[in-house]
Amino acid sequence: MQLKQAEAVANLSAPIDGIDEDRDLFQVAVEQFAIAADVLGLDDDMREILSHCQRELIVNFPVEMDDGSVDVFTGYRVQHNSGPGPTKGGIRYHQSVTLSEVKALAMWMTWKCAVVGLPYGGAKGGVQVNPKLLSQAELQNLTRRYTTEIQPFIGPNQDIPAPDVNTNPQIMAWLMDTYSMNIGYSVPGVTTGKPIVLGGSEGRSEATGRGCVFTIENTARVLGLDLAKARTVVQGFGNAGSVAARLMAELGSPVVAVSDSRGGVYNPDGLDLTGVNAHKLRTGTVVGFSEAESITNEEVLVLPTEVLIPAALENQITADNAGMIQAQVIAEAANGPTTPEADHILYDRGIFVIPDILANAGGVTVSYFEWVQALQAFPWTEHEVNERLRQIMNRSFEAVYGTSTNYAVHMRTAALVRAIDRVAEFTRLRGIYP
Ligand code: NAD
Repeated sequence: MQLKQAEAVANLSAPIDGIDEDRDLFQVAVEQFAIAADVLGLDDDMREILSHCQRELIVNFPVEMDDGSVDVFTGYRVQHNSGPGPTKGGIRYHQSVTLSEVKALAMWMTWKCAVVGLPYGGAKGGVQVNPKLLSQAELQNLTRRYTTEIQPFIGPNQDIPAPDVNTNPQIMAWLMDTYSMNIGYSVPGVTTGKPIVLGGSEGRSEATGRGCVFTIENTARVLGLDLAKARTVVQGFGNAGSVAARLMAELGSPVVAVSDSRGGVYNPDGLDLTGVNAHKLRTGTVVGFSEAESITNEEVLVLPTEVLIPAALENQITADNAGMIQAQVIAEAANGPTTPEADHILYDRGIFVIPDILANAGGVTVSYFEWVQALQAFPWTEHEVNERLRQIMNRSFEAVYGTSTNYAVHMRTAALVRAIDRVAEFTRLRGIYP
């Protein structure tokens, strides 16, 4: 019998996937914002405007389950700021999604789009659900009803969802179809991350990992680090993490450890990633891969390595483990993996952090390309997509690195300073209506 979602959530004695639910993630986002606002000397009114989310929608909606029963789910869609253009951001399906988390992620999306110069504000959505407990039919029912609930808020000129944790191209196809059926004609531009046959972009599924590796290459250049000799550790062997791992290996870096929610595998000589992938396909996890030692999720982060790529969920690098991290470079493929306390420790220890809003901006950048292709009804080749992505990531890295040296601040503050300055300018120029 289908386990009711509410029971499933209640049965979780501790937050899974390492999320510390006591910490209000939106507070973390506002703290980061305040640090950059101080550097910029932002006036009080602008601080007040930008530290709030413009729109927050909570929906409670019924879904018919396979056994004929009905479960009610809670979902969110938050738009942080529509000053720069339509809002943009993924949809997350996870049992511990909260409004605070979605608000933080929406705010980070505003800064992320601004840091790479996209004509978007930030948004995010989420549904409190463990999708692993649903059948495909239930997942489809949930997606279609959630889409219908948020439909007045979204649209190709208004707010454009995309995949995030536990959502994928199939879910985006259902979302696009539901929106289109409700409106009466096909609207491919309402979402990105669609399957390629439905107008998805070449290169989108790899874009986050690829963009992250472009920022690591730039970092290696400024630090004088030889990536062919530099070891890499990846926490979270999902979409972003597995692509980043593969591309680092293609640059010659021995990828010595990878992990997922069940644990990690470590081989100091470098993992055979093809073998790890095959093992994961077969068993659903990297754990148990034979040519490596099993390690815990705590151990993964503090292994000897030059490059560490957190690519799982938020609040992974904290005051408790930041002092033990051995990497020279941390590239945040995940959103919000480092707490503000840990940031200070890492900065004091001279560890170079490529912040999430820069390191993982490749995903939204190629989402933007997908949206442009949908509006023009003219697809680009994968080569075009990857080259344009490289140009944007290189240019954005240069700009953030320049700000970090000019203001003598670390890369996160530098990225925020650039982004907030841009969004504040939009807000100033547009004024307050009415
Ligand atoms: P995903 O679901 O494909 O992968 C997440 C992986 O992390 C899974 O392998 C999961 O098992 C693992 N994981 C979960 N908890 C873990 C833990 N405590 N320790 C180790 N591994 C753990 O998701 P994704 O799309 O790759 O997203 C990962 C992160 O990257 C998220 O923070 C997401 O917001 C961010 N991100 C993703 C994209 C994108 O385009 N996919 C874009 C920008 C940012």
